[in-house]
Amino acid sequence: MSFQTLGLSEALLKAISKKGYTTPSPIQQKAIPPVLQGKDVLASAQTGTGKTAGFTLPLLHLLSENSKTKYRPIRALILTPTRELAAQVYANVREYSEFLNLRSAVIFGGVNQKPQVATIRQGIDILVATPGRLLDLQNQGLLSLKRIEIFVLDEADRMLDMGFLRDIQKVINSMPEKRQNLMFSATFSKDIKKLAHGILDHPVQVEATPENTTVEAITQKVYRVAKGKKTNLIIKLISDGDWKQVLVFTRTKHGANRLCEKMVKADITAAAIHGNKSQGARTKALAGFKSGRVRVLVATDIAARGLDIPLLPHVINFELPNISEDYVHRIGRTGRAGASGEALSLVSADETSFLRGIEKLIEMKIPVQIIEGFEPDPNASTEPIKQGQGRDRRNPRNSNRNSKGNNKSRRPNRNSGRRN
Ligand code: AMP
Repeated sequence: MSFQTLGLSEALLKAISKKGYTTPSPIQQKAIPPVLQGKDVLASAQTGTGKTAGFTLPLLHLLSENSKTKYRPIRALILTPTRELAAQVYANVREYSEFLNLRSAVIFGGVNQKPQVATIRQGIDILVATPGRLLDLQNQGLLSLKRIEIFVLDEADRMLDMGFLRDIQKVINSMPEKRQNLMFSATFSKDIKKLAHGILDHPVQVEATPENTTVEAITQKVYRVAKGKKTNLIIKLISDGDWKQVLVFTRTKHGANRLCEKMVKADITAAAIHGNKSQGARTKALAGFKSGRVRVLVATDIAARGLDIPLLPHVINFELPNISEDYVHRIGRTGRAGASGEALSLVSADETSFLRGIEKLIEMKIPVQIIEGFEPDPNASTEPIKQGQGRDRRNPRNSNRNSKGNNKSRRPNRNSGRRN
């Protein structure tokens, strides 16, 4: 199948070919036709599948069919959970609309609102936004959603994880009832289905599993190591392997900062990306990493979500996540687009239960290696670290137990301590 056969306009085909895309990805093949027909769409797709073009291309096609050139009300709203994702989606919107008479803007918190407001005042057709800043500007009377024709909810599962449900509802209440809705989510919990039911009208359901991001396609390895030796081990691995682009995950913001400082001391260029960093610092870190100036990007789970970093050869878990699904999200950053990928995890004794949980989820045992000089401490406790011992998150196993000690099958509360 080609982009031509999907029925997209010449101006869009020109922008697509400028991007160098030759074939629509599976999610694009499935989502573009129903969106062009004006239908609501519920798509199961995560970053790396080409989902952004999957909704942006038909959205631009529809809006440009009836361009408003004099007075431009905001006709399309794309809501994303994080600032980084908003910036990335906006960059895509800009590129794909290069040959169209459509204007767009992006708004998110953490930066001065003035330039954002000035752009909106000039008249825009498409707004990409995070919920907080959107509602903030709306409450100040600086923008209106009353003329929205198409609403896109991107990464809906992360939106709920981050506690945005009420904000989403407020946004929905500010839009006209008659509109086209597109919702994208990587997972489909009961809450997501409920949200979808409230937003979408007879949606067409489409699904795409990301290519090469299946767990089986990634080489996984566990290094059993003493807790206090992790920093030296990671430095050794990166230096000995002469790795140029490594994404490292830590569980806490402080952990990310500390590790980053130690890497820099060891002459490895590194930058940290997490919720306490200013927008400017995050953008700079990401740009440095993408350009190759920064070898190591140290990130927390939330900060890394949705980052578009293609062809990543190495992902290292400096600490295992206590939520097993996060492990799958993390290692999905490697081995994209046909490139070979390696996911390594440094596991100390107290993380043993997290490792078991992960292996249960992915239904496989991860090969274990021990490096001479970095052996695990034989006397270390295998008890997981509890809250208040320098960690941000609870052990889900403990949080699932009620006072009688019964283990409820309920999933851990993903909202606790998620704002990394
Ligand atoms: P996304 O899932 O939207 O974050 O896209 C993942 C990556 O795939 C981005 O770097 C896109 O630029 C790229 N991409 C999207 N569609 C295509 C396509 N049809 N062919 C090749 N690359 C694509």
